Amino acid sequence: MASPFDGISSKDGAIIIGGGFGGAAAAVALHKVGVPCIALEKSRHARSEGFSIGTSTNGWRALDELGIGDELRSEHLSIESFTFCNPSGGVLTNIEFKDCPPPPHRPDHELRVVMREAIPRLLTKQLPPGAVHYDAGVTDVTATPSGKGNLLLYTTFGASFPGTMKHHCQPVIFQRTLDLPRCNTTSRTSDTTCQDGAEVTLEDGRKLQCRFAVLADGVHSKVAAKLHRAKLEFMNDVAWRAITEIDSEELMHPEGVFGQGNGIRIGFFPVKYDAARKKALYYWFFACGDRNDEDFGDPEQQKKTMQRMVKGWTIGPFQQLLEATPPNKMKISKIYQRQVVAGQPWFDGCITGVGDACHATTPFLGQGGAIALESGVELGVFMKEAMQAAGGVPFAKLAPEAICAALRKYETVRSERVALIIKKSAWVGRGIRRSNALAWFVMGALKRFGLLKAFPLNSDTIVDHTFWEPSGSLNDADVPSRPVAEKAQHAEE
Ligand SMILES: Cc1cc2nc3c(=O)[nH]c(=O)nc-3n(C[C@H](O)[C@H](O)[C@H](O)COP(=O)(O)OP(=O)(O)OC[C@H]3O[C@@H](n4cnc5c(N)ncnc54)[C@H](O)[C@@H]3O)c2cc1C
Repeated sequence: MASPFDGISSKDGAIIIGGGFGGAAAAVALHKVGVPCIALEKSRHARSEGFSIGTSTNGWRALDELGIGDELRSEHLSIESFTFCNPSGGVLTNIEFKDCPPPPHRPDHELRVVMREAIPRLLTKQLPPGAVHYDAGVTDVTATPSGKGNLLLYTTFGASFPGTMKHHCQPVIFQRTLDLPRCNTTSRTSDTTCQDGAEVTLEDGRKLQCRFAVLADGVHSKVAAKLHRAKLEFMNDVAWRAITEIDSEELMHPEGVFGQGNGIRIGFFPVKYDAARKKALYYWFFACGDRNDEDFGDPEQQKKTMQRMVKGWTIGPFQQLLEATPPNKMKISKIYQRQVVAGQPWFDGCITGVGDACHATTPFLGQGGAIALESGVELGVFMKEAMQAAGGVPFAKLAPEAICAALRKYETVRSERVALIIKKSAWVGRGIRRSNALAWFVMGALKRFGLLKAFPLNSDTIVDHTFWEPSGSLNDADVPSRPVAEKAQHAEE
């Protein structure tokens, strides 16, 4: 059988492991800045089904940078407000986005619930044919053995990597094994050794060489478990999600509704409204805490358990949504986080990562996907900056030391931002676990006396984590990237 990699050389570019949000975003970003890359995805084909995902202002900023924002916008409703309710449907607070301080570099806040499969699908369309390989599960990634490296000699003709280096002359690579000195790149908190590249092992035993590897294989990444400095933690929370269509006379004011009590949070958002059929498609979720690896049984039993837990709750159409959802259409997820340390890089050598593999966060802020997209963009920005700093050389001429240094800078700058998001999301999760009738009574009383502003449920601060600008531009015509020192300061702000 023909190898899916026939005719494709990865050794002069990057290999991305995983073709989800983070992997597809990284592939587009690297491609835009002239770094040849392929993505290896373990699924047999691109996903066509799936759930929805709440995408906030920062996610849209990343999608715009990657060139697919407008196409997605046209297909998904814009959410204009959030309402927080107690289990009997009483409104604790309602937050209109128009009342929140505007994001610094965008005209307005933006939240849309996007069909999950659409993001990797549209991103993949931005790539040259053959850039994403399906049925290509990866079992291991290692840095190229110390001291033995590939010496790259360049000529200015030939093409071993299809379609990805359109702006640059393509190198022909001759490999010799030499004893090369290893390089040290100093980051703010650690010294990391730079090997010359990475080797990726596939499930079928094949090995591929590349100049750097990007782990984008999600929260259960086995390689990240082995190499990442921060540990993955199970948070004792469990969540279900689904998309369900129900009858709906009208949809006047698209809003996200959250309900909370007894350690449970539910939420639902309209995704699409079909006025001719009077049908609304909703994304809903149900999260509950302190579930120490509890076995919820088969999907039928899971649904019954959920219905029992929210018996008597009367929050909008939530009961109707739950009732209308076939058990086999709900997805259950255990909730994990990897609390990275601000200012600390994640990996060593020519290996890095994006998304849940590196900075998994709990879903309580709805930010995991958005920060995966941000990281994909930033990886491209830092590679572009490294090429500029080396005198505007094409990626093929970028030295291994410069690649390693760029990866560590990328991780250090990203760690500042994602550490805050992970912390804030976990904090919200703790609040949900503790929410009970007494907590609602206290919150209600505080609201009556105008003191609710002291809590994060207020329009001044509720969405400030969605303010994000990339450290530079991926697009040639845009403004040049800012210096790294300024980026780090921006992240701290
Ligand atoms: C209940 C819940 C609700 C959420 N709600 C939101 C929300 O509203 N908004 C939001 O922004 N985020 C949300 N998230 C988080 C979001 O789903 C993730 O953060 C996001 O999917 C991460 O993208 P990723 O590309 O890193 O990983 P994934 O989406 O998991 O993609 C990883 C890819 O790698 C592939 N893969 C895995 N192993 C291998 C291997 N060995 N070799 C090759 N390929 C491999 C997988 O098939 C997959 O395609 C939610 C999460 C949960 C659990």
